[in-house]
Amino acid sequence: MSRTIAELVEGALRDIPDFPAPGVLFKDITPLLADPTAFAAVIADMAARHRAVQLVAGVEARGFVIGAALAHALGVGFIPVRKAGKLPGRTASLSYDLEYGSATIEVHADDIPGGARVLLVDDVLATGGTAVAAWDLLESVGAEVTGFEVIIELAALGGRERLAGRDVHALLTV
Ligand code: AMP
Repeated sequence: MSRTIAELVEGALRDIPDFPAPGVLFKDITPLLADPTAFAAVIADMAARHRAVQLVAGVEARGFVIGAALAHALGVGFIPVRKAGKLPGRTASLSYDLEYGSATIEVHADDIPGGARVLLVDDVLATGGTAVAAWDLLESVGAEVTGFEVIIELAALGGRERLAGRDVHALLTV
């Protein structure tokens, strides 16, 4: 029998304990990206749910890799959601709280037509803080964010609850 997408993702991931800090189990997607069958299957699975979007937005940095491939598969453009200070043009920005301190993300507002239907993607959903911030930032410049696609959801960290009422899909939930 052929493997489910969750089994395929699970088999292609690498768990790195205590990275980047003690107590964190880092979900490394680089083996998945290096495996053409797994990478293609992830993109095809995500694309099948979002045929009607006009743009894909990905969060720096691994969201760029998945998001650009997904945008290409859907025949739409890609919007990078970057850490503060990296984008050269006119930006919109949003700051959000982290466990210790805060972070700021930015987009080039001029690249997003008003009312554009935008799909947001990232590699991992943990607490949901990054996804909520990216979603709200895109909507602050007039986009209609239609959903959030993620490869791995870490269920114990409550990201899905934080994104309640928004369309969230994970290929693998652990
Ligand atoms: P959060 O905002 O807590 O949902 O964290 C999600 C962001 O942090 C994503 O951009 C992930 O790339 C990264 N991240 C958080 N936890 C992990 C983890 N255990 N393994 C890999 N990346 C993670």
